[in-house]
Amino acid sequence: MGYATMHSQCAACTTMISFHANHVPSLTIDGSRRAICRDCFDRWNQIHRIDEGLDPIPLHPDAYSPMDETGLQLNTSKETE
Ligand SMILES: [Zn+2]
Repeated sequence: MGYATMHSQCAACTTMISFHANHVPSLTIDGSRRAICRDCFDRWNQIHRIDEGLDPIPLHPDAYSPMDETGLQLNTSKETE
């Protein structure tokens, strides 16, 4: 059994982050989903939820944890002739 961790820059502040691909909070930019760091998620929640009188969106407990390798959808099939 293995684990996988995704790495990229936060879409908002460009800090390098590690995250769970399925649970990390994200922003959609130009049609693609881009991960954001915990600080930017907290800032987003403050501005778009709390300051508007809404309940904050809860952070998934595994948002920045490694994911079980079985959660990956890799295409390992090879074409044969
Ligand atoms: Zn950030």
